[in-house]
Amino acid sequence: MRYVSTRGQAAPRDFEAVLLAGLAEDGGLFVPEEWPVLTAAQWRALRGLPYPALAARIIGLFGATGLPLETICAEAYAGFGHPAVVPLVQLDHRTFALELFHGPTLAFKDMALQLLGRMFDHVLEKRGERVTIVGATSGDTGSAAIEACRDRRAVDIVILHPENRTSEVQRRQMTTVLAPNVKNIAVQGDFDACQDLVKAMFNDAPFRAEMRLSAVNSINWARIAAQIPYYVAAALALGAPDREVAFSVPTGNFGNVLAAWAARRMGLPISNLIIGSNRNDILARFLASNDMSAKPVEPSLSPSMDIQVSSNFERLLFELLGRDGTATAETMTRFRTEGRMPVPDAAWRRATEIFRGFTLDDAGTLAEIRHQWSAAGYLADPHTAVGTAAARALAPADPAVPVVVAATAHPAKFPDAVERATGIRPPLPARLSDLYEREERFGVLPNDLAAIEAAVRAHALRNAA
Ligand SMILES: *Cc1c(COP(=O)(O)O)cnc(C)c1O
Repeated sequence: MRYVSTRGQAAPRDFEAVLLAGLAEDGGLFVPEEWPVLTAAQWRALRGLPYPALAARIIGLFGATGLPLETICAEAYAGFGHPAVVPLVQLDHRTFALELFHGPTLAFKDMALQLLGRMFDHVLEKRGERVTIVGATSGDTGSAAIEACRDRRAVDIVILHPENRTSEVQRRQMTTVLAPNVKNIAVQGDFDACQDLVKAMFNDAPFRAEMRLSAVNSINWARIAAQIPYYVAAALALGAPDREVAFSVPTGNFGNVLAAWAARRMGLPISNLIIGSNRNDILARFLASNDMSAKPVEPSLSPSMDIQVSSNFERLLFELLGRDGTATAETMTRFRTEGRMPVPDAAWRRATEIFRGFTLDDAGTLAEIRHQWSAAGYLADPHTAVGTAAARALAPADPAVPVVVAATAHPAKFPDAVERATGIRPPLPARLSDLYEREERFGVLPNDLAAIEAAVRAHALRNAA
């Protein structure tokens, strides 16, 4: 299988090249040249597989055939805190939580990144190469990426996080990893500033080549591929392909819900995709009125969704525009320069046939955490709560269609909000219980490309020596 860029100018690549490249050189995102589509019989044949085996089968459909996928998946999920890896918990007669937070950093990003770190090692070792991974995080991606890369031989990693905008648990999960190949930088700016710095480093061709830059943030296609299997697992468990299922996904960068869209594109009978947003509701405004206009990012109780420019939306846009790379590139350029994305009406209508958008403010989030606790005895983190509230508000009219909520973080990752809502302070699992005593290490730098590039260069040179 080959991959093309959403902006139509980059040469097609295979899975391993796309894994290492992250962003395409024309500024676009890689997508499969053709989507694999399974028949009902083929979906049925996947029922009952252990999660790692299912993941290997699904990811194998995307051309990752040069990698020992069965071994990689088995190792990646062996350390998870639940034997089902991604257990489904029933909340009411038709609503289920798909718990994606049993990995080492207690958030769904581990689902993909535990695989990616291992994929990088395999591909780089085969090629005798070394890379520098740079990434921006609003909290969870960074710690998950660092956990995935900390013991890898062929990888240096530099993670930018917005200073004072992550929870203390999130920051400590990153900054207490003292492995020599790991560097944390707190940027004096918001998450979009961090993300822009990463994109600018990739667009600086000489720097990119010198450092052999690579990405593991959610623009990396392999992340999307690695997120598709859990939607398949949940749908099969609830009766697909012989029964329709809906998903509700608390959304920031659009990566998680895009994987659900991909599962639908592959032929799983997914009736609707419900997008939950906090007050940073650009996607909900887009779906309501075709208004994709960026506003300043505002902090909320669900910081991993404090995002206004959802990078992965470009992959959906490319599909909505009939896979026209030139039109996608023009649309993205106008979004960047004018702050508003001009999506043609017909394309917007196609999006609204599948996606529904829901917005929940902080007060509503606390009320929803309280509601789930009193109604179902379920402790939801603030991100998951946005998803459960969205599921209730926008569930398909047909009550026979179950709604699966992506539960994206462990409640102990956001203990303050959970305690405010329920009076209960969820404890960290035993493996993280000394987190607050561990030594932290990170640099603080201004929102300035030259300063960041200098720090990345120094880090990579020290480790290559
Ligand atoms: C990253 C994250 C999200 C948002 O996922 P996207 O793929 O960026 O849409 C939601 N919840 C949690 C806990 C996260 O870490």
